[in-house]
Amino acid sequence: MPGIEPDRVLCESCGYDLRGLSASAACPECGRSVSSSLPTARRGSPWQRRPGLAGWLRTAAAVLGDRRTLWPGVEVELDRSALLFATNIGVASAIPVVSLLLAGGHADFAPFFFLGLAAVFTGLTWTEMTGLRFFGARRGWRTTAEVAGSVCAHASVGWILSGVAVALAWQVHARTDWLVRLAQSGVFGYRVGVLVSLPAMLAAAFLSGLLLFEMLVYSGFRAMRFANRPAPGRDWSGRAVIA
Ligand SMILES: [Zn+2]
Repeated sequence: MPGIEPDRVLCESCGYDLRGLSASAACPECGRSVSSSLPTARRGSPWQRRPGLAGWLRTAAAVLGDRRTLWPGVEVELDRSALLFATNIGVASAIPVVSLLLAGGHADFAPFFFLGLAAVFTGLTWTEMTGLRFFGARRGWRTTAEVAGSVCAHASVGWILSGVAVALAWQVHARTDWLVRLAQSGVFGYRVGVLVSLPAMLAAAFLSGLLLFEMLVYSGFRAMRFANRPAPGRDWSGRAVIA
């Protein structure tokens, strides 16, 4: 089993301990080039390189689109990842609040709704991180807290789908009042009546984002199973930094 010391450089494909090998060598176990496993190969996602609107949009697009390119570049770190997570959760929680206000909900309620949603997203993500560490250890992977955090922060883009879907469900429900009432009168049968009830629609909407989040997390969990973190005292480019 590979060492799980966070600073030991492992082959990112198979977990082989690369100590003593030169950067131009190949992994004796799987043939992957040593240079592609070096911590300097993880240059950071667009957000990690430069947190901001452009970085956020490009990172979200990569998380939802080209994950094969994204995950090998994600830096193992918690500072900018935490900021990315907060941004995603803020967006995911704000969208339903706007929808609630547009549907004529009480404005007084909005802050509590926002905080409640953010707490649910955060709690579920924290549970996911704990789960990743547990299952990673069982598989012999090096899923440290930093790796789990970096993966979950990037995958938390998926929660925005929950926010958008909940907002839409709310609007649809509010604007098709007559249809909802007709369905609930039992014309189409009892089950249809239950399906179009507001709690059922909101739950289904929320679940769509949960499923997306899980899918994104799993892809990162696998791709970063032996991810190397930057060497202590070095940034992603290998330059010495003052600690
Ligand atoms: Zn290997």
